[in-house]
Amino acid sequence: MMNLNNPALFRQQCYIDGQWLDADSGATVSVTNPATGETIGTIPKMGAEETRRAIEAANASWAGWRKKPAKERANILRKWFELMQANTEDLARIMTIEQGKPLAEAKGEIAYASSYLEWFGEEAKRAYGDTIPGPAADRRIVVTKEPIGVCAAITPWNFPAAMITRKVGAALAAGCPIVVKPATQTPYSALALAALAEQAGVPRGVFSVVTGSAAAIGGEMTGNPIVRKLTFTGSTEVGRVLMEQSAATIKKVSMELGGNAPFIVFDDADLDAAVEGALASKYRNTGQTCVCANRFYVQDGVYDIFAEKLVAAVNKLKVGNGLEAGVTQGPLIDANAVAKIEEHIADAVSKGGKVIAGGKRHALGQTFFEPTVVRDAVPSMLVAKEETFGPLAPLFRFKSDEEVVGLANDTEYGLASYFYSRDIGRIWRVAEGLEYGMVGINTGLISNEMAPFGGVKQSGVGREGSKYGLDDYMVTKYLCMGGI
Ligand code: ADP
Repeated sequence: MMNLNNPALFRQQCYIDGQWLDADSGATVSVTNPATGETIGTIPKMGAEETRRAIEAANASWAGWRKKPAKERANILRKWFELMQANTEDLARIMTIEQGKPLAEAKGEIAYASSYLEWFGEEAKRAYGDTIPGPAADRRIVVTKEPIGVCAAITPWNFPAAMITRKVGAALAAGCPIVVKPATQTPYSALALAALAEQAGVPRGVFSVVTGSAAAIGGEMTGNPIVRKLTFTGSTEVGRVLMEQSAATIKKVSMELGGNAPFIVFDDADLDAAVEGALASKYRNTGQTCVCANRFYVQDGVYDIFAEKLVAAVNKLKVGNGLEAGVTQGPLIDANAVAKIEEHIADAVSKGGKVIAGGKRHALGQTFFEPTVVRDAVPSMLVAKEETFGPLAPLFRFKSDEEVVGLANDTEYGLASYFYSRDIGRIWRVAEGLEYGMVGINTGLISNEMAPFGGVKQSGVGREGSKYGLDDYMVTKYLCMGGI
């Protein structure tokens, strides 16, 4: 079914301490292709016990891994990066089959995912410390950066490869081993990455992948005192639970949580560019990214024309199985995702919203959904408050800059935001006014390995990628030298 050039990339066992293993109990979970409803295969249903062994193996590998010169760790990450690139076709195919995204997008994700291994390998060599003028003639202050220790990661299904590499790349570069629990919907991308890591020469124990019960694995990861840091990407709801669980052992945490991104179109915007940005930001991955535009605020004077142009562009999107050429919209991940977008549309319509594109399940069945635009959206709608995580663009109307910044900030989230304007004064004022970790200005695509990705408010803590991303996996040590 997978039909890969390198069948060894399709693994149905977990990778722990350099070995491919089944669950102790022999239990498995089956994994489904969301485009067809067919079973792709099974994965081990592991729990706390296997996770504990992976954590202990990570701990055992730590001394050797951290002692390696940064350049050696960088070379291994480089090799892994190159293997990802060389196996792009297979990795993308695995991803499309388990996740649903169009093959072109899956290839894009492999390029994006691998870039974190390349980037952090390079950054490993730049984990600089500091020397600080001392308080007395006989004293010197030296600051070094050290790896924090054994890390654990829990990752989501929407970016099955990239959400792993941007954690694992940083951890390994910093000198930390890491145990990953991928989402149960998309484990095969993670296991294929493990197969390539093994081939690249990542030593046993340094990177393990455990699949199975989220509660049992997450419970062990957060409860085990060996784990010094937990990194999570997923919902705010689950992030809150994991932070609470991590509090008992005071773990450092990185949390990339939910968003409710505003996308603002001012009346001086280049509307065609704004439509293009809207498509990229809203409909990529069928609306299932945490930086997807969730609320469109369009200024009064351009509201109707923007709506018209957006609908024309949305009607050109092609829904279907991601393996088919030309498809731009894959299925939603599962039935719950369909229920959520349906709920948001019904609620919007009940409060005066008008559906001007799509609006219902797609004729293809499964979890396919029509790319949808709703106009006349108002703040009392559910979609103003909650992330839809699906292909629904609600269009709100606004008049002044102050008003729209207030509306945009009226949410507990603060991950990504976007706006389109050509006026330099307005650009600075609005960019500074938005309470978000990331602001896309005249662009709907903001994520890359060079830039710090992360949120404020209940969208999380920590940053991934960029020179800041390494710090999340390091601790600062201060050496106070006296008697000089
Ligand atoms: P999403 O909405 O992206 O599915 P979730 O937060 O539900 O986000 O899931 C993200 C990841 O967190 C997945 O790997 C999932 O299995 C895991 N997860 C869900 N619930 C828990 C939990 N109670 N403890 C640990 N991990 C969990």
